[in-house]
Amino acid sequence: MIYLDYNATTPVDINVLQEMLPYFSQSFGNAASAYSYGLDAKKAVDISREKIARHLHCNAQEIIFTSGATESINLALKGVFESYREKGNHIITVATEHKAVLDTCKNLESKGAEITLLSVDKNGIIDLEELKNSIKKTTILIAIMYANNETGVIQAIEKIGKISKENNVLFFCDATQAIGKAPMNVIEDNIDLLCLSGHKIYAPKGIGALYVRRKNPRVSLTEQINGGGHERGWRSGTLNVPSIVGLGKAFDLFNEEEIEKIKLLRNKLEEGLLQISGTFLNGDKEKRIFNTVNISFSDVHGKMLIADLTKQIAVSSGSACSSASVEPSHVLEAMGVPEELNRSSIRFSLGRLITEQEIDFTIDYVKSCVEKIRSIYL
Ligand SMILES: *Cc1c(COP(=O)(O)O)cnc(C)c1O
Repeated sequence: MIYLDYNATTPVDINVLQEMLPYFSQSFGNAASAYSYGLDAKKAVDISREKIARHLHCNAQEIIFTSGATESINLALKGVFESYREKGNHIITVATEHKAVLDTCKNLESKGAEITLLSVDKNGIIDLEELKNSIKKTTILIAIMYANNETGVIQAIEKIGKISKENNVLFFCDATQAIGKAPMNVIEDNIDLLCLSGHKIYAPKGIGALYVRRKNPRVSLTEQINGGGHERGWRSGTLNVPSIVGLGKAFDLFNEEEIEKIKLLRNKLEEGLLQISGTFLNGDKEKRIFNTVNISFSDVHGKMLIADLTKQIAVSSGSACSSASVEPSHVLEAMGVPEELNRSSIRFSLGRLITEQEIDFTIDYVKSCVEKIRSIYL
């Protein structure tokens, strides 16, 4: 079985695991305790916080540890909505965001929020004029992801940040798919809140972080979990020290060489697959993270294709979370991909452990699956 679904989750890197191990049974202290066990744990947490902050170009105090990107998104959106009610109730986001953002917005809508969903063009890119025109007096937040999990498409983050700042509106960026894949600078990009997740970057599942700007402007949030007042009072609960250590370690392991290797293999895979007749690339070819390729296959039944492919390769179709049915992807739908091609779209996402032989096999295997299905049903 060849793993080509790194955008869904990644294996914990062996170096990450090794860094974590002592914090389960030896240095097991509560980071809030004032004696050596606790101080050791706190020191390890602080080192992780520093590593993440350095990567984002922010201050360590601006990092809040959470259970993952979904929780960070809930804290950011609900926290801002509740905290800025006096200013307004209007939130701007995009039709192609992750469900964690869209469903949280839906929840806020039922509590009185007004949500504007920006459209995207056929390449998955938003129109900055549409963004500008949708801002009003009551707008409190712009929530736009850095890189899309299904297509890899990257938005013009720096320009969006600039528009947000000029209009005195907070900018939340879901950077879950961009961390370790694109340069991050919350200062240059005027990002006020940003989320990330451990299990997308070779750290464990169930750990993540939220960056919350402390000055120019100082962002205020209403906490969503009450308790002992951990994490500046915004996320109570005993810190998950081993996972936090692992998350920090993951940031040591990003490297240019690996990026170049994966990019070459992604390009090889993409070129190989697009040589199959009746194939279409989904998403902007240039403005895209280096590890992702999303392709639609004409004249094949989507459900049959994914069933065949997943006998040998781990890939995702659309955003389908329910295994029972192939739901058309809301991302491709927003890009105007016709329903048939939407249902027969496959996301290939590469990562650290992929090899050239596996890519060669994948190209041949996909080709044979598509040809077989077409020969039976056409
Ligand atoms: C995976 C993912 C999430 C959710 O992250 P979890 O840590 O699994 O909750 C949110 N946004 C994007 C873009 C993702 O890829």
